[in-house]
Amino acid sequence: MALAAEVVRELKDAFGDRCSTDPLQRLLYGHDQGALPDAIMRVINHQPDAVVQPVDAEELVKLVSLAREHKIPLVPRGSGTSGYGGAIPTRGGIVVDFARMKKVIDIDADARTVTVEPGITWRELDAALQKHGFALPVYPTSAPAATVGGWVAQGGTGIGSFRSGTIRDNVVAVELVTPTGEVQSISGEDLDLVVGLEGITGFITRVTLKIEPFQEDIPVLVAFDTPEDLEKAIARLSGGSDNDSLWSVTLFNPNFVRLKQAATGEKILPEDKYLCMLVARGRVPADLNAVVFESGGAVLNGELARHEWEERFYPLRLKRNGPSIIASEVIVPVDRLARFVGEAERKHKDIAFEGTVARGGQVTLLGLMLGDERKATFALEYSSSIALMDQAKKLGGHYYAAGMYFTDQAEDLFGRDTLEKVVEFKRQQDPHGIMNPGKILPPSMDPNSPIKMLAAAVKTARAGKSVLGSVGRLFAGKGEASGPATDLPAEIAREAFVCAQCGYCRWACTVFDSDPWEGNSPRGKWYLLKEYVKGNLPFDEKLAEALFFCTTCKKCDVVCQLGIDNAEHWLSLRPLLNAKKFENTGLAAVREHVLSTGNFWGVPAEQARRWVPDDIRYAQEGAVAYWPGCWASIVMQNM
Ligand SMILES: Cc1cc2nc3c(=O)[nH]c(=O)nc-3n(C[C@H](O)[C@H](O)[C@H](O)COP(=O)(O)OP(=O)(O)OC[C@H]3O[C@@H](n4cnc5c(N)ncnc54)[C@H](O)[C@@H]3O)c2cc1C
Ligand code: SF4
Ligand code: SF4
Repeated sequence: MALAAEVVRELKDAFGDRCSTDPLQRLLYGHDQGALPDAIMRVINHQPDAVVQPVDAEELVKLVSLAREHKIPLVPRGSGTSGYGGAIPTRGGIVVDFARMKKVIDIDADARTVTVEPGITWRELDAALQKHGFALPVYPTSAPAATVGGWVAQGGTGIGSFRSGTIRDNVVAVELVTPTGEVQSISGEDLDLVVGLEGITGFITRVTLKIEPFQEDIPVLVAFDTPEDLEKAIARLSGGSDNDSLWSVTLFNPNFVRLKQAATGEKILPEDKYLCMLVARGRVPADLNAVVFESGGAVLNGELARHEWEERFYPLRLKRNGPSIIASEVIVPVDRLARFVGEAERKHKDIAFEGTVARGGQVTLLGLMLGDERKATFALEYSSSIALMDQAKKLGGHYYAAGMYFTDQAEDLFGRDTLEKVVEFKRQQDPHGIMNPGKILPPSMDPNSPIKMLAAAVKTARAGKSVLGSVGRLFAGKGEASGPATDLPAEIAREAFVCAQCGYCRWACTVFDSDPWEGNSPRGKWYLLKEYVKGNLPFDEKLAEALFFCTTCKKCDVVCQLGIDNAEHWLSLRPLLNAKKFENTGLAAVREHVLSTGNFWGVPAEQARRWVPDDIRYAQEGAVAYWPGCWASIVMQNM
């Protein structure tokens, strides 16, 4: 649905530059981290009509009122790092991006809680807490990009879950702007109607989380010969006695290590072992070595452990070998871990696993299979991920999340009672289903569901004799066979598919940091290039402008999960852009600014000198010249 002109006008009046209806931005806010076959995306209206970036709950109250009046879908979005489609529109509407709501509101040392706005990333929050002597009890591996609001809405386990449980166990309260436009404070059991529900019951505008006193993380890396030995150790640790200080337990199979080392070129870990990272806070449990030894494990040297601990945020490095990956995420009870991993490895000899053990002995396993989006077979390969998740169910496990694709698993994940409460909430507060439609609730429980076709396709495939074949056929489409556009350098055309869309580069990017629109980030640039290569986007002025928009500072390269030389690539594209007769409009503007004001931001000279303390005087000559740089002196004067 296109927005009526009066609605667009109202949005622009209310949000100004924080509202975009630009086609490129809309494209960028119509997907998430998962790379799905185009055929799936074609059965839903995944492009928003507008994107807004609120700064407070009050703006959201007004937005909800406008959306209700015109029955416009509203889709909350953190950093788009979830791959379940929760942040993707299903019938257009307005994406609400929380990039400008990132404040730490209060750290309560006595109550041991912190209250924040939803758009702050987990890593930023942990860094802020450490300055006050506190730490997060749990955070996702995607902490450099994922937002607090996003993970609270998505739910799940992460680093620290072994001792501290799921994110649900660590939320004390949330402030919610409901679909009726009320601002409510929610805590206790009522959190069941918010945490893990992917924004279908309202916008999370504040979160109060548990925190704990900071203690040093002590990583111990252990190698096992077989998944059975690994399972034995984890089972004992899960039920063990002296484990209060054992905080995080994660694991990797041999393929994970082999593929990661093939991607990075580093050969430091054994490639034939099942590895387990045990992290204690403060002190190592007294019985840890005995449990490891008695289970057949061997402790690797401390330097390797510390190196791998630093690597905890980078599970997708191996994607470089793909360049695409097919992910499959399940939860299995610890006593089925070895059987599930063994069966999966027999079926898919190259499957890589990363696992997280949570309190109570549940293991979240992320299975990664290499694939290639550019080939026609990709859609078919994708179907094996569903088969793997169904295999986990047979062993007493379940899918990890419902999102948009697996609403038929919602009852398994949330229980019938909770789902019925959600349905009642929606009936009373959101009768037209404007709040993130098509997520969590299966079409059978949601009369407004816009994903009936998608859900029916998955159901038919699952009921058929060959899940693999029928899902593949249903999802296969023309778009998958497109080869690289020939006018891009081959390496750049490939890197567009290598980029994991993890978003780690977003807040590192000088340009994005000052104006947080996805098109300004390296992630956004790679997505646009990929769409161009796939034939979904023309090479026009807008695309050229996005590619030119970079200071070449290389800050993104330092954090890039896939080790992409972003800045070099943007620079190497410039001759092509020039050959295509695109002008760097940014540079032309800079030239004008320098000529008229003497600085490239075009601000008056007095403003450019505001950073200079009163007691410092300019001199025409001197032994030392100090040049603060235009960024520090004009844009970030408190640097
Ligand atoms: C490298 C990598 C590692 C990962 N590691 C983990 C992990 O350890 N554990 C794990 O569980 N997941 C993990 N994930 C998945 C993902 O990062 C998490 O689900 C994450 O917390 C999502 O945060 P986000 O800010 O990107 O949210 P998004 O993906 O933008 O949104 C997720 C859902 O939350 C909703 N939402 C977002 N903000 C709000 C809000 N303010 N109010 C209401 N609803 C909102 C969206 O509509 C959507 O349904 C990983 C992903 C990657 C790429
Ligand atoms: S090199 Fe360009 S894209 Fe990378 S951080 Fe700097 S400005 Fe952003
Ligand atoms: S450029 Fe690197 S850091 Fe940025 S989204 Fe892509 S893989 Fe992640």
